[in-house]
Amino acid sequence: MSRETEGIDWTTIAEQLLGHWKRSGITHLPIARHPLPDEIAQWPVADRNSADATGSSKGPSTLQPAPTKQASPPPKPSSPPVPSSPENPLPTKPIAPLPPMEGPITLTPWVNTSLDDNGRAVALQGLHEEVKACRKCADIVCRRMQTVFGIGPLRPKLVMMGEAPGADEDRAGEPFVGAAGQLLDKILVASGLARNQVYIMNTLKCRPPGNRTPVDAEIENCRPFFESQLEILQPEYIICWGSIAARAVLRRNDSVGRLRGRFHAYKNAKVLVTYHPSYLLRTPEAKHQTWDDMKMLMRELGITPPTR
Ligand code: SF4
Repeated sequence: MSRETEGIDWTTIAEQLLGHWKRSGITHLPIARHPLPDEIAQWPVADRNSADATGSSKGPSTLQPAPTKQASPPPKPSSPPVPSSPENPLPTKPIAPLPPMEGPITLTPWVNTSLDDNGRAVALQGLHEEVKACRKCADIVCRRMQTVFGIGPLRPKLVMMGEAPGADEDRAGEPFVGAAGQLLDKILVASGLARNQVYIMNTLKCRPPGNRTPVDAEIENCRPFFESQLEILQPEYIICWGSIAARAVLRRNDSVGRLRGRFHAYKNAKVLVTYHPSYLLRTPEAKHQTWDDMKMLMRELGITPPTR
């Protein structure tokens, strides 16, 4: 017996304690025991795992009864799950297919379809005189040598539309002359077309100073002219050479890279967008993309593209 327990009458203490319990109505002492399986099933999961792993008699950690399972509502009808596969190991929710970048194009008729050749010639001449007299773009008119209207047959199947005259065009009064014009001629020949078969025009009828890119206000100033010109010519196809022509005709700010490779619509004409010959002179690696675009157009025109 240790010093701390010397002199203690444990029997007397026990008898006194039992007498106190009897007076308090306590008839037996609780005995620690392992909980029954049914009791464990009522515990929260974490406590249940603890009891299973350790054999501990520790009861539930909270005094709240374990939540009873509520009757769940009937499942809503849903799409069948995607079956698993080596590439897709877990069943996943089906993904709706992406919409195409652009749906089928919708053509709308030209306004005046009754113009004969003489009517077209007169209408073009009147429009040309209006262009010559135009002074809407203050930054341009003071430095232009002349306006550059456009050239080609009265009933072209194909209209080619560029950006604006450069120095050579400003001098000659004709669109697509100079180095870019020479490359355009080569593209036309390779595509089975001749320059005199197509109508060639620009978005702007005057040369911006220093060949700078036309600003939006200048494009809008010139819009009535190029839109009237297209309405008189009523082509089946339009090629927009470069982003300025594409922006003017399609009213879209997308890059050529995003617009090329498919047809768009302008009134009753199918529109093809590709790189401007000036850009191709600076970026020869883009030539094969323009050639792909031209082959797409050739198939539309019934011309068999060369296989080489
Ligand atoms: S670019 Fe067009 S709108 Fe501007 S001055 Fe020349 S013709 Fe007129």
